[in-house]
Amino acid sequence: MQLNDSVKTIKGIGDKLQELFAKVSVNSVGELMTYYPVRYEDYKLPQDINTVRDGETCVICACVSNVKDNGTKSRIKVITCKANDPTGEVELVWFNQPYVKYELKAGYHYIFRGKVVQKGKKLSVEQAKIYRREDYFKLQNSLQPVYSLTKGLTNNAITKAMKQALVLAEDFPEYLPSATRKKYDVLKKKHALQEIHFPKSEETMLEARRSLVFEEFFLFGVFLRAMSKGRECAKSEAVITDNGMCEKLMGELPFKLTKGQLEAFENIKKDMTSGNVMARLVQGDVGSGKTIIAVLAMLLCASNGYQAAIMAPTEVLAEQHYSSMYGVFKRYGLKCELLTGSMTAKEKKEAYARIAAHEADIIIGTHTLFQEKLEFDNLALCITDEQHRFGVKQREKLGKKGMNPHILVMSATPIPRTLAMMLYGDMDISLVKELPADRLAIKNCVVGPEYRPTAYKFMAEQVKQGRQCYVICPMVDETEESDGENVTDYSARLQETFGDEIRVGMLHGKMKPTEKNIIMHKFSTGEIDILVSTTVVEVGVNVPNATVMMIENADRFGLAQLHQLRGRVGRGAYQSYCIFMYGNKSDDALERLNILKTSNDGFYIANEDLKLRGPGDLFGIRQSGELYFKIGDIYNDSDVLTKAYEAAHELTDKEADEVMRKLYESSAKEVFKFLENYATI
Ligand code: ADP
Ligand code: MG
Repeated sequence: MQLNDSVKTIKGIGDKLQELFAKVSVNSVGELMTYYPVRYEDYKLPQDINTVRDGETCVICACVSNVKDNGTKSRIKVITCKANDPTGEVELVWFNQPYVKYELKAGYHYIFRGKVVQKGKKLSVEQAKIYRREDYFKLQNSLQPVYSLTKGLTNNAITKAMKQALVLAEDFPEYLPSATRKKYDVLKKKHALQEIHFPKSEETMLEARRSLVFEEFFLFGVFLRAMSKGRECAKSEAVITDNGMCEKLMGELPFKLTKGQLEAFENIKKDMTSGNVMARLVQGDVGSGKTIIAVLAMLLCASNGYQAAIMAPTEVLAEQHYSSMYGVFKRYGLKCELLTGSMTAKEKKEAYARIAAHEADIIIGTHTLFQEKLEFDNLALCITDEQHRFGVKQREKLGKKGMNPHILVMSATPIPRTLAMMLYGDMDISLVKELPADRLAIKNCVVGPEYRPTAYKFMAEQVKQGRQCYVICPMVDETEESDGENVTDYSARLQETFGDEIRVGMLHGKMKPTEKNIIMHKFSTGEIDILVSTTVVEVGVNVPNATVMMIENADRFGLAQLHQLRGRVGRGAYQSYCIFMYGNKSDDALERLNILKTSNDGFYIANEDLKLRGPGDLFGIRQSGELYFKIGDIYNDSDVLTKAYEAAHELTDKEADEVMRKLYESSAKEVFKFLENYATI
């Protein structure tokens, strides 16, 4: 068995299990080993019955009486019993576990571990695991790994496979130079792997975790270092001068630029006319007006005779940019070209030809702009919109096209300083702090499903006033298929509720890009009143006439994502509203949603999110896939991040090259994925 071998080489894994593992992206033995637990089950000391609380998981040691088979109620078999300890009594309930009846003997003590549920005044413990006391005490000093599962894949199956796979822990390449490892107290990879899955104690687990986090951040640091090498202070070949065009455009806009927008553009102009290559990040909250800054920069570039490109993370967004920019540039005698993945091969070929012949001045596209075949004439400016959606590698690739072009990246993600330094260490940063003056603060509410009819009524009124609304459905489960169905069902129901007067449209990930574009176009031109969608509208979509964002099952989304979704409204002068509708009313969920209710400020929200999750939440919740590290958490592990960054930059060039070489040459496929994994930063 080797790291790159299929998980099927592990004893006990057949075709079926292999398929299940594939669903959680575990294909090889190496990948399995880096499938880290999301938490650990700890076998804590039993508590007194009078201390159990609704919603918690409790462990009690109690004497059993009154074991009862309650027969079958609506096809569910119910077994109950009473459990006593000196402090009180509680009822235990099991659904569809008839054998429990034979396991429990009245008058005996057992240890139960289960979820406390309150119905009315009565507390009961549901689906408790039953342990004999001696068994439990044996487990008590260990931490058992709990993995993220998918339907059919049990924790037990993963644990069993993991035990076998770990025999290969030794084969994992050690990427950290030993000097670095010693200086920063990092465990050897094989020990860290062993301990992260089957820790001897909480202490060793934390040490292992820190080591793996360090390695991950360190490699990322070295990787970025290699990527940005040689870009610092490069001379620009493009000769760009201020020809007054941008001032002209500013004068023609229907609004006045905000202070932040003006400053950002002034900086850009200074960079681009300085003779050095620009590398600048414009960071501004959703709705702060970053697009116009990009337009001005492109105008400056193109009116000097060079090509400028802007890359958006989705086709919907690229399309939107194209239709909003096309007319503007036309007035200045400049041509726009749209390039997206859904274009036919013939269309693409023609577009390539026009771009190469400089028949296009402004090129707007998705990641298709990386196509090897695409050649620019004299590309002098590359812009990435919604930077956090792209890989660093991709950003670099585009940067390498043409003549060492100026780089401008735009992002709305509030990231901590340490990470910003790491990601954009070689960049200058412009902050667009304020929103345009004409904006009214979005009004928020956090409500339960019983409010739904009221919400619909409210939306109908807004539509009557000429406004538009979004409704976000959550994914029902991971598969995109059911995702689409869910949206389809929901919008059909909504159309029925509203009748013919209101036009409901839908958008989801399963639709073809062209279909999506048509729907988005209809929505932006007002031919659709209410758009039911998945989170595909999350990024960048700009329909200023939309004033209501209703998010179903809001408790299932991360705060950052909810903030992005909310950012789809409040983009014009109309009062806008965001309705966060929870499906599950837990204290946690309410607390989280209340943060959004009380603030519209992305940076504040990110900070509160961090506080809420706190160090108690061992591995943190990943930022809804936005900043994806396998084990590191950029918020909670920011001290490790700082150290790892330091370590990556202490290396000599030769040492750094050596680490990169190991990364690329490693026989562990898992490592190649490492680079791809950052595709969303
Ligand atoms: P984001 O920063 O989220 O990318 P956009 O650039 O899409 O925001 O801008 C959101 C909306 O605000 C657009 O409709 C845009 O035309 C408008 N806008 C941009 N700047 C201003 C401004 N200074 N005053 C008023 N409206 C503005
Ligand atoms: Mg934008």
